Amino acid sequence: MEETNKELFEKVVKVAQSRGFVFNASSIYGGLRSSYDYGPLGVLLKNNIANYWWKDINNDNEISIFPVDTAIIQSSEVWKASGHLAEFSDPMVDHKPTGERYRADQVPDDIDKADLTEPRQFNLMFETSIGPVQNENSTVYLRPETAQGIFVNFENVLRTMRAKIPFGIANIGKSFRNEITPGQFIFRTREFEQMEIEFFCKEEDENRWFDYWVKKRMEWYKSIGIPDTSLRLREHSDNELAHYASKTVDIEFLYPWGWGELEGIANRGIFDLSSHQKASGKDLSYFDSENNEKIIPTVIEPAGGLTRTLFALLCSSYDEDEVNDTTRTLFRFDFNIAPIQIGILPLSKKDELIEISNNIKNILQESFRTEIDVTQSIGKRYRRQDEIGTPYCITVDFDSLEDNTVTIRNRDSMDQQRVAITDLLGFFSDI
Ligand code: ATP
Repeated sequence: MEETNKELFEKVVKVAQSRGFVFNASSIYGGLRSSYDYGPLGVLLKNNIANYWWKDINNDNEISIFPVDTAIIQSSEVWKASGHLAEFSDPMVDHKPTGERYRADQVPDDIDKADLTEPRQFNLMFETSIGPVQNENSTVYLRPETAQGIFVNFENVLRTMRAKIPFGIANIGKSFRNEITPGQFIFRTREFEQMEIEFFCKEEDENRWFDYWVKKRMEWYKSIGIPDTSLRLREHSDNELAHYASKTVDIEFLYPWGWGELEGIANRGIFDLSSHQKASGKDLSYFDSENNEKIIPTVIEPAGGLTRTLFALLCSSYDEDEVNDTTRTLFRFDFNIAPIQIGILPLSKKDELIEISNNIKNILQESFRTEIDVTQSIGKRYRRQDEIGTPYCITVDFDSLEDNTVTIRNRDSMDQQRVAITDLLGFFSDI
């Protein structure tokens, strides 16, 4: 990492931890390496991203996207048929002098390659067992992706929803990978959240839908406030493609250490449905009434990371500027995505001002995420709201008692304007 970007990374991590976005897991016991808990603001931000994702993938009347929420623990047969038991591994090397293990393609530059063992394959799935008796039949795995939960429910959704292709099934939730080299804060963790869509279409339409999803997903990242210049597309070369994919394009983000994956969009063809059909003996075909034939639909998969998107958003929104000769730290979150959208700040703790603040909160909280902040000086409270990325603050002062107006302060321009309390809902609804 270059010096300046290393500094940015460290600052983002510091504010995220000190302001309640992300905490080290088990911190009172010294923490667990590369495991994180999401605090109050992190949860709000994560939920906003997930909701926005769901809203966006559903905004096209031409196609239906059906949600599922599938089990983390599935039958081991699922992972046998999907190829994960045989293939889901990374090459691992040991550093002989220290015993440290690294993913073969992620060995730090300062390590002498002569000190490394030959690469060995290491399966990334976490193994556990179910039931009181531990034997080979009780072995199960924590899912390493949400995608397979969709494929094994393809027939269930088709039948119960009377789905017609092209249509998609979307799954969001935790996945687990025993990553050899986790790190860079929440970029790569062993437990993380994914948001995946499997989109089922006819083979003849695969390129059209592939392009559709690449474009749509790229636009979405911009719509949540990630700048154009920090995003790019990168197509996988033939030797990089996963065993199930005929084409993959990654949406990459410019992380503080350089470009890296944010989401992968893959053409998985008929690989998964035909593998599960063969292994389970169940008919997973689709009846195409136009051509009067049974087909296995082709699958286009936009597979994104929810927690990784949150991290990208923290990095791209972090900013500092100079205000009255002091440095102001802020997250420039978009109004729609910010954990808290409007901070309500009574100038003093006097009952009358608190009462007006509560009334304002009652008016706004049905439509917006609001917070009343009463402690410390108004300057410190502005600073704190800036630091957590709150786009607007409303200040309730003694004039408010006389004329029922309040001051709205814009986080980015720091402009202040006086607005009647009765106009507040309209003001924020127009943003
Ligand atoms: P990478 O090359 O970074 O290991 P991948 O190609 O294995 O990622 P996919 O299997 O395509 O990742 O998973 C889809 C998305 O899930 C990724 O684009 C990423 O956003 C997210 N993801 C994958 N692994 C992790 C992880 N260990 N921690 C956080 N997010 C992850």
